[in-house]
Amino acid sequence: MTKTYWLEHAWLDTHVEPGVAVTVSAGGSGAGADGRVTDVRTGVDTPPPGAEILRGLTLPGLANAHSHAFHRALRGTVQVGSGTFWTWREIMYSFADRLTPETYHALARAAYAEMALAGVTAVGEFHYVHHAHDGTPYADPNAMGEALIAAAADAGIRITLLDTAYLSSGFGQPPNQHQRRFSDGTAEAWAERCSLLKDRDHARIGAAIHSVRAVPAGELATVARWAEERRAPLHVHLSEQTAENEACLAAHGRTPTRLLADHGVLGPRTTGVHNTHLTDEDIALLGGSGTGTCMCPTTERDLADGIGPAVALQAAGSPLSLGSDSHAVIDLLEEARAMELNERLRTRTRGHWTAAALLRAASADGHAALGWDGAGSIETGALADFTTIALDSVRTAGPVPRLGAETAVFAATAADVRHTVVAGRHVVRDGAHTLVPDVATALADAVQALRS
Ligand SMILES: [Zn+2]
Repeated sequence: MTKTYWLEHAWLDTHVEPGVAVTVSAGGSGAGADGRVTDVRTGVDTPPPGAEILRGLTLPGLANAHSHAFHRALRGTVQVGSGTFWTWREIMYSFADRLTPETYHALARAAYAEMALAGVTAVGEFHYVHHAHDGTPYADPNAMGEALIAAAADAGIRITLLDTAYLSSGFGQPPNQHQRRFSDGTAEAWAERCSLLKDRDHARIGAAIHSVRAVPAGELATVARWAEERRAPLHVHLSEQTAENEACLAAHGRTPTRLLADHGVLGPRTTGVHNTHLTDEDIALLGGSGTGTCMCPTTERDLADGIGPAVALQAAGSPLSLGSDSHAVIDLLEEARAMELNERLRTRTRGHWTAAALLRAASADGHAALGWDGAGSIETGALADFTTIALDSVRTAGPVPRLGAETAVFAATAADVRHTVVAGRHVVRDGAHTLVPDVATALADAVQALRS
């Protein structure tokens, strides 16, 4: 079965093209079933008969490369008051304590539906809440991961489940009471459990190392090897906090980046998340190995982390992707512009990235970091994942359409997303989710269930 979309304006990697007809193979019902672009025709002034009309500017689908779905429950409760990342973490743990496969499924389904409404077509879920509250495995040891995979299917988006090894609370410290449910005991046991998870049409299984705090140095290579054998993406929180750097130096006499390099963790399928407080040698190690960098600017500013050296990392060879991480907001356009605007504040100069380069981080390079090849551009053979932003809203009206990339990155917000198509299927139509009828109520109910 094929289907044709007529795009009033389309971002084709380098420029905005008016009047584009995109034919997709829209087989099956779930994201990923078939769902590729089979033909792109430009210069199509009027919509072909039977075509679905996407008015506005259609972009490749956005990739949210770093998510902790349950953090969505914290929005609006942890922004007030003083403190640091570490005091925020205590509140975050109080929500993690209460999750069950059922409540997590409901919350993630709603959060992923919010992502679809924001133009996100693939999410990288950095998942570490594996077991029951006291650390006992569920009857299905992957009940929590499966709940997240099902939640993405229900919300109509793709997921890369970055199943996370989390074995210690600090260098040489066992997991604390909150972290027992995160731990498999050893990296070997983590690998055994992860190996039970299988890819499917809408889901890829990847690996993650929570951080050098949470995985002892002697266990890092086991996780890296598991990912290497499967050619799966491997993500790791890296140097988000200076305290982590100091503790790592004290324990191992080297920086977290150097420790990861020495244990075979770095490489082109690896992504460091945050990469905030790095030395020049760290930047050279990350760039030289082709290790990616996932910046999460709205979270990093919310948590007072600092501003990572994204310009230097990219120049050294580290591809950039973006994530909404703690979901203080879910808006990849905001993440993209925040990366540039952070750099402007830091350097007091402008123009570190073009709008096109920022869009690339939010789409093609984000998908690549999550192991979705052939996604993030509107071309024949690519995954039929795209999103359309309005050009006639109060935020986007005015600029000429050929400046679409600038409008998308510097003017639009998630509220301007009108359509989201995943695997050729219309998941958001005219600003409404087609599978989750009332996303706001779903979010409210799911958060309330965790509070009561
Ligand atoms: Zn994170």
